[in-house]
Amino acid sequence: MQRGGLVDPAEILHEGIVGQAFAQRMLANMIRREMIPHAALLWGPAGVGKLSLAKSFAAALNCTGRGDSVSACGSCSSCRLLASGNHPDVRVVEPDRRNIGIDQIRDTIEAVSYRSYSSKWKVWIFRHADLMTEQAANSLLKILEDPPSNTVFILTAQNLYSILPTVVSRCRLVRLSLVPQETIEHLLLTRHGVSKEQARIQSYLCGGSVGAALEACSDQSLDEGRLAAIQSIRDLAGKPTWEVLAAAAHVNETTKGLALDRFLHILSYWYRDLLICRTVQDMDRVANIDMLDEARADSQRYSVAGLIRRLRYIFEAQRQLAANASAGLVLDRLYLALSALD
Ligand SMILES: [Zn+2]
Repeated sequence: MQRGGLVDPAEILHEGIVGQAFAQRMLANMIRREMIPHAALLWGPAGVGKLSLAKSFAAALNCTGRGDSVSACGSCSSCRLLASGNHPDVRVVEPDRRNIGIDQIRDTIEAVSYRSYSSKWKVWIFRHADLMTEQAANSLLKILEDPPSNTVFILTAQNLYSILPTVVSRCRLVRLSLVPQETIEHLLLTRHGVSKEQARIQSYLCGGSVGAALEACSDQSLDEGRLAAIQSIRDLAGKPTWEVLAAAAHVNETTKGLALDRFLHILSYWYRDLLICRTVQDMDRVANIDMLDEARADSQRYSVAGLIRRLRYIFEAQRQLAANASAGLVLDRLYLALSALD
């Protein structure tokens, strides 16, 4: 549930989804006004609840026990079938290996041509619709141009601009955004039984993705990787070049294979923590709360300008990585730069 009283609780489509009031309200209004589009495109970053929202929309459409509510009841036969993953009229199409191909769209065309089993609506959810081949997208476009009745196609995607514009133009766009840190912290504490310390740490480090936070909370090795990542940069200053390059070369081993973008994200949060300790000293905003003593001590070793320069080097490394630079080179350059700073 949203905090701050901004959202009328009656307009929330599904209580289990957090931080997406705008998208929830849009979909809830479609149900309330009975203006169901033939196609909707739910787009936004990874791990923010696109599939969950698509499923709860499908559940609400077919629920026979919700009365005047816009949220599915969770106990009628349609809701139970959906929860078990066996609903004959609600299907999720996932990319086959690397993309959604023409065969998967052909199967869909065939399936939607049958009469629905018992449901009011057939709902076809295409996950990662941005991975649809051009051929598949053109085939889907043909259905969208002449849509079968009582059928809704829901596409979910991270990258709107990788989808055929003609397909996008046929869809109602529903934007999902990154979830605020405090919302995720509250969710981890109240619904997932995560410890106070881990809820704080992971809600900051997940970058607004509930999915990433839940993954980090359930996988101990990811958290060990975080601690190793931070340790790897704590004593770089003044070390000989060969030792710095050796540390950069062993990042993968020491951080247990943490993805490089996540590794850089963790480093940026460490220096952010040091900046907080060095300046505002608002400890409620420190992410790596389990390393507060170390953060306080390290923050005194650098100037504010030095910490900001370190953050800039990390942002530059993130930019290079996004531009497909070699991971090894990015790390060598970053570690050398960090070691050369005062
Ligand atoms: Zn129901």
